[in-house]
Amino acid sequence: MKKIVILTGAGISAESGIQTFRGAGGLWNGYNVMEVASPEGWAKNPALVLNFYNLRRADAAKAKPNQAHIALSKLEKKFNTLIITQNIDNLHEQGGSSHIMHLHGKLSEVKSVANDNIVYDIGDKPIQLGDTAEDGQQLRPNVVWFGEMVPMIAAAIEETATADIFIIIGTSLAVYPAASLLHYVPSSTPVYLIDPNEPDIYNPPTNFSFIQQKATEGVPMLVNKLLNKRPI
Ligand code: NAD
Repeated sequence: MKKIVILTGAGISAESGIQTFRGAGGLWNGYNVMEVASPEGWAKNPALVLNFYNLRRADAAKAKPNQAHIALSKLEKKFNTLIITQNIDNLHEQGGSSHIMHLHGKLSEVKSVANDNIVYDIGDKPIQLGDTAEDGQQLRPNVVWFGEMVPMIAAAIEETATADIFIIIGTSLAVYPAASLLHYVPSSTPVYLIDPNEPDIYNPPTNFSFIQQKATEGVPMLVNKLLNKRPI
């Protein structure tokens, strides 16, 4: 079975009603991203950060997967398919995909501020200052903030380096190290990028196709093409 690796960003969930952040002028739902998604922001105002993620968690709980999330799950019929997502929502899971790597963590999870291995799934519930883990430490969202390590990046690079087809959907490719994955794609591997806006790509791959469409249009079209086309 050929292997497809798909890198997704906030744009794939935009048509499910979840805002992207670059699209909103560098703000994330009206907040300065560094105030709500960095260790410095957390040190300055943890209550604001918790409230921000409580709102995002509640929004995401109401969202439904769109035709792009659903179409990607169909690739599993014919391909060894892995989705590497920068998104913290669970719309790929709801859309039926089974192999998903959440590079930047999950909205539905919280962890101890003192121990990355003490993680709880809280679904769509809020957390407040004073809510603690079993080690007595404050709980925080289990998401990767700007300036923090991305624990899964090594595994993501390994998967990308063995992709037969690589697809990028709805990401500005402005957040590192996720954006650097593109440079690990083998040179013979076709790369498709679906986004209504063309991201600025330094040194684009040789076998590169830009599909200038919204995810709900471009993704089902590409999936149909890949499912019918032989050999790839
Ligand atoms: P980004 O906000 O920087 O870029 C969004 C991209 O999506 C842009 O290139 C834009 O042109 C494109 N886009 C907008 N509407 C689209 C549509 N209908 N179909 C396809 N593409 C569309 O997003 P990013 O590159 O993912 O980086 C944002 C960071 O913020 C990520 O690390 C992520 O963790 C976080 N974030 C996550 C969510 C989520 O979980 N849904 C939402 C906002 C931000």
